[in-house]
Order: sequence, then structure tokens, then C-alpha cells
Amino acid sequence: MNKTKTKHAIVIGAGIAGCSVAYALAEHGVKSTVLEANNTISNEASGNTIGVYYPRLTASPSPFSEFYQYAFLHTCDLLKQLGKNTGCKQTGALMLDFDKNMRIKNQGILKTSKWNKDVIHHLNQEQASSIAGVNVPVGGLFYPQAGYLAPKLFCKSLLDAYSDMISLKINHPAKSINYTTKTKTWSVTGNDNETITADIVIIASGRKLTDYIQSSWLPLKHVGGQVTALPQTEQSSKLKVVVAHKGYIPPAVDGIHYMGSTFHRLDKNPELLAETTKDNLENINVLSEQIPSLCTNKINTKEINGRAQIRTTTLDHLPIIGRVPILLDWQIEYKGLEKGKITENMISLDSSSYYPNLYVTGAFGSHGMTSAPFAGAMIAAEATGNPLKITKEVKYAVHAGRFITRALKRRVAINY
Ligand SMILES: Cc1cc2nc3c(=O)[nH]c(=O)nc-3n(C[C@H](O)[C@H](O)[C@H](O)COP(=O)(O)OP(=O)(O)OC[C@H]3O[C@@H](n4cnc5c(N)ncnc54)[C@H](O)[C@@H]3O)c2cc1C
Repeated sequence: MNKTKTKHAIVIGAGIAGCSVAYALAEHGVKSTVLEANNTISNEASGNTIGVYYPRLTASPSPFSEFYQYAFLHTCDLLKQLGKNTGCKQTGALMLDFDKNMRIKNQGILKTSKWNKDVIHHLNQEQASSIAGVNVPVGGLFYPQAGYLAPKLFCKSLLDAYSDMISLKINHPAKSINYTTKTKTWSVTGNDNETITADIVIIASGRKLTDYIQSSWLPLKHVGGQVTALPQTEQSSKLKVVVAHKGYIPPAVDGIHYMGSTFHRLDKNPELLAETTKDNLENINVLSEQIPSLCTNKINTKEINGRAQIRTTTLDHLPIIGRVPILLDWQIEYKGLEKGKITENMISLDSSSYYPNLYVTGAFGSHGMTSAPFAGAMIAAEATGNPLKITKEVKYAVHAGRFITRALKRRVAINY
């Protein structure tokens, strides 16, 4: 890989987004300091004991689907590269045709997918039950390379892989970030007013992505949710693959299925959530409705634990990855969108206005394990002048600037 003049980056946040970008930068020869507000890495959204990874595709071809195809294969390769320390089990994942809409969607995905049978194929109910190891009520799409992993171990492996290039500062919340034009450097100030300088800054702060002046306008949505730690039964211990239905259930790890998950819309800037019995019950009810064979025993919900957290997402359900646009400059440069004088595809992302060497990676919704590693690779490649060969449409679909141009086109204020 090309080594570049860039010497040092600061990554704000040590969840899967921050750890992935630090790893990818190190691959390109760039050292980084990862600042984490809490006392451990992967303690917020990336802190569940087990997370599943599989692609998220649309029935017809779309930049959305294309992004998740790149991302899924990237994560599969990365997990192989990192080895077993990620807690990863490539069990395969079965996406059940659980209702008519899902069946039609799965058929569309299969028809339009360019992947071969090693990556995706359809199983009927009998084949699906045989591969799952338990009786499932319907067939579905099967992704043999998908599976589950331990998010904390995944994050740790990413940082450990380049321990000579990545330094971690825990209990170190970043308060503000400022650019000095004269020295072409960024300085990040912490709570104690200690300042660290670097050539590049990457904001990877999960639900706090908008805590900085430069990124404060990003229109985020927050969705609360809870995973439930369900003790295995004799029947469920036979489950061999991840099964996704209206929720998801992975095979048991140390006798527990970490399955999920509930969804609750939250206000802006939500505080962390407490676990509730109601949410555990909801997860269990959905499972027993969708895969009755896994819920044959009576369950005492009082003996069951869960973990509540906040998903950060966007209105179009795609993440935000790449350089941070200067909002006011874009609103002036692309004013023509309002009157139809220019169209979105006339916008050149490369020649638009940005804060120099300031990047953002986040809003991964329910799929951070699948998508954040690829986001890290995209940013590291762009920051070091070796951009990945992905289509302009995909780059735009996840670019922060899309929110500005869409607001101009619709003649509405950017919703932040
Ligand atoms: C219930 C639930 C179940 C889920 N299950 C899955 C799953 O099975 N598979 C999957 O792929 N995804 C799953 N997700 C989604 C996934 O967890 C997220 O997409 C992902 O963890 C987001 O990672 P992140 O790094 O962007 O954010 P986070 O993991 O929240 O990391 C952000 C970090 O930034 C730090 N930070 C914030 N502000 C500052 C600051 N000022 N200075 C320094 N540090 C700061 C925070 O402390 C935190 O550690 C689930 C989410 C929920 C809520």
C-alpha cells in the first residue's frame, strides 16, 4: 500500500466505527490516537456480548444494496484476517421468508444478486430446518459466510492488530475540535483542556456524532433497543446457524442465546437506557411466534437478563461515511438544486467544500458489525489518497452531503 505524507490521526470514539477506522488507517501506514470517553472500549452500542453479521439487501438493485454487498464481503475477509480472537463463528445466517412481503423481497434479492451460490442461495423449509438443526416454519435465503461475533473482542482485535500504530486513551472525552489553517493541523481538546494535535480527525462517536460544531447539523435518528440473554433449552442447543426473522437468534454461546431485539423511537440526544423485563418478554414473544420449536419450555422472564442500548441511524437507513461538508458553503454552492437549475448527479463530491481532513463514520443503525469495518476502509483509503474503487452512487448514498442536497431540492430546512 502507498505510504502517504499523513502522519497522525485522532479518532474520537472506540466503538466498532472508531476501532475499524484506526485499523484501516494503520494498514495504510497512518498512526492514530483513539480517544474514548468511557473507561473501556466498545462500551455503548458496540458493547453487546454477541452481535450477528449478515448483509442487508434490497429486492431490486440500489446503491443501498451495493453498499451492503461491499461491506459484508469486507467484514467476512477482515474476520478471517483477524482470526479467532474476534469471537466470530461463521455459522451461516438464514433469513426466513417469514411473511409474504419478506418472501417477495428474498426472491427479488436472489434474482438480482450477482453473488454465486457460495455467498447466497435459497433453501426450502426442509432444507432450512436441516441446515438450522431445528425445525423452522418456512424456508429462506442462506448466507453461508455470515454468522456471529463478540463485538468487544472484535474491537479489541482491531486495535491489537496494530498496537505499534494505534494508541488508546480511555476516560478521555473530546470536547471540541479546531483547525489551525497556518499549521494545517487539528487540535482536539478534552475535558481537562488537554489538547492533542493531528493531521486528520475522524468523528466516530456513535450517538454523540453531532457533539462538535462541524458535524452538529447531521440529521440523526435514535432508536432504542434491547437484546435478551436467553438460556438455551435442549431443543435450542441444536440451533447451528443464525436465524433472522422479525428478530434474530444466534446459536447459544456458553449456554446463552443473545437474541434480539426491540425497537423504540427516541428523542434527540437520548440518554442511555435501562434494561426492562417488558422488552425481554417482547423478544421472547416474537421468537415463539416466529420459530415455535425454539420456545417449548416455560420461561421465567424474571431470571432473564437483557442489555438496552441506542442505535444511531438516519432517515434513509444508510450510515454516514466520509468527509465532513461545510454546511453553509454547500447551501450556497448548490442553491441551484432548489430551482431545478442543477440536479444531484451534477454534484462533484471531490470538488465540493469540506473541512480539511475531517471525517465522520457512524449511524450504522442495527448493522454496525457488518458495515463499520468497510466504512473505516473507505475513510482510510480516501484520507491517504488511494480511494476505493466503489461507484459514485454508493459514495454519494452514504455521504454526509446527501442531507444538504436533498433539503435544498425539497426546499426544506435541513432537519437537525
Ligand atoms: C439492541 C441492539 C442490538 C444490536 N445488534 C446488532 C447486531 O447483532 N449486529 C450488528 O451488526 N449491529 C447490531 N447493533 C448495532 C450496532 O451495535 C451499532 O451499529 C454499532 O455498535 C455502532 O457502533 P459505533 O462505533 O458507531 O457506536 P458506539 O459503539 O456507541 O461507539 C461510540 C463510542 O464513542 C464514544 N464517545 C462518544 N462521544 C465521545 C467523545 N466526545 N469523546 C470520546 N469518545 C466518545 C462512546 O463512549 C462510544 O464508546 C445493535 C444495536 C442495538 C442497540
